[in-house]
Amino acid sequence: MTSYKGYIMTIGLEVHVELKTDSKIFCSCSTDFGASANTQTCPICLGMPGTLPVMNIKVVEYAIMAGLATDCKISLNSKMDRKNYFYPDLPKAYQISQYDMPLCINGYLDIVTAEGEKRINITRIHLEEDAGKLIHDDEKGTMIDCNRCGVPLIEIVTEPDFESTEQVGIFLNKLRTILLNLGISDCRMNEGSFRADVNLSVRKETDKLLGTRTEMKNLNSFAFIQKAIEYEFVRQVDSLLADKKIVQETRRYDEKNKKTYSMREKEDADDYRYFPDPDLVPINLTDEYVQSIKRILPILAKDKKPQIMKKYGLSSFDSEMLVSDMKISVLYETAASLTSAYKTLANLMIPLSEKALEIKAERWAVIADMTDKDQINTTTAKKLIDMLLKEDFDPKQQVKIKNMFQINDIQKLKEYVTKAISLNAKSVESFKSGNIQAMGPIVGYVMKITKGCANPSKVNEIVLDMLKDMDI
Ligand code: ADP
Ligand code: MG
Ligand code: ZN
Repeated sequence: MTSYKGYIMTIGLEVHVELKTDSKIFCSCSTDFGASANTQTCPICLGMPGTLPVMNIKVVEYAIMAGLATDCKISLNSKMDRKNYFYPDLPKAYQISQYDMPLCINGYLDIVTAEGEKRINITRIHLEEDAGKLIHDDEKGTMIDCNRCGVPLIEIVTEPDFESTEQVGIFLNKLRTILLNLGISDCRMNEGSFRADVNLSVRKETDKLLGTRTEMKNLNSFAFIQKAIEYEFVRQVDSLLADKKIVQETRRYDEKNKKTYSMREKEDADDYRYFPDPDLVPINLTDEYVQSIKRILPILAKDKKPQIMKKYGLSSFDSEMLVSDMKISVLYETAASLTSAYKTLANLMIPLSEKALEIKAERWAVIADMTDKDQINTTTAKKLIDMLLKEDFDPKQQVKIKNMFQINDIQKLKEYVTKAISLNAKSVESFKSGNIQAMGPIVGYVMKITKGCANPSKVNEIVLDMLKDMDI
């Protein structure tokens, strides 16, 4: 990758999210996924001439929820526009969308990466209808299923603020959990209810202006998104190094060959001949209406995070991890109401992420408590957690029955260490000749003969002291 040094990539995302309303955006057809082809259609979503669409108010409500959760400004006056293009899965030959007056604008989402916090600005969130689906069959040819025509979508467009694959992954995950927490979408990437278009450009580090972007459409798994980005970055830098211009175009990522291919040169907005849809009234909202939606929002991660930091004295990173799924934050807080070992509890719970939910809050509390009070060590705590993932039991009793208590008694530990030293002559010699690492096997031996129950930091101290005091 050395020749790619000096080049930066810039990414902007357009995320399409199907909303979980019972009925479609402009008619009363069902939005259920997986029904037989064309059984959930009517003259309106089939685009018959003379039919009239009517806005589903639930769609507006859900989109406002998404806007509020991402700190967008909600436009009290917006409208629906026609985006004109011909595509076989779009019977009307236009898509009803929003153009110059989207419902939500100027939001953001803060993400935490290894390098620290980063703000991703959200340009807009607008409403639109989904298109149908083409099914390609070797014998029957290409068929169309219109069940998806008119399923409500929000499109979330970000500024070109991403500089790495890692940032894109963290953002998409965070956005997805926010929408799941709001209950407005299933966000199933494999069913297409959460899919992202990746716009990517490269430029020299010294260049101020962004390079020409290409767009990769409808990537429906995190793994594909990552691979597509990596491939496209290298392809674009290679082009520039070979003195070739990047063409603004739509590219398809081929999962089999792990390459992107040009599909078509990118249209500009002008080509779509946008105009206000004459069949739909403008969306005029009152501030009270928006406030009433704000009141029914569930607690949001961005509000919960500072509360957790303050109440339990946790770091920004730990708190971010605990609110990454609001169910985990509820579990943490329930457990934290039963113990004061807040930091230990977080340390034990965070590495498990959503698997933590499989263990009862009271069990978490007891394990954190015993660890914090030096009754058991971290190795034992992790052992108990592993066992609890398989079946539920009372950890306190288990520790008693199996005698898993931590050995803190210095006299006892010294006896173990003496034995370990006498049986590990080679390590002792190596330590004496200056290799500090050589104490590892001695500590390891003590842990082994105590079935992992010795207090590891005390064993370390004693081993170090004893070895230093020895004259050879
Ligand atoms: P379109 O409908 O033509 O795709 P949008 O405005 O909806 O246009 O989306 C443009 C997307 O491309 C945004 O996510 C934006 O951040 C991103 N973008 C714009 N310019 C660049 C660039 N030079 N490099 C990378 N991404 C870009
Ligand atoms: Mg686009
Ligand atoms: Zn319909």
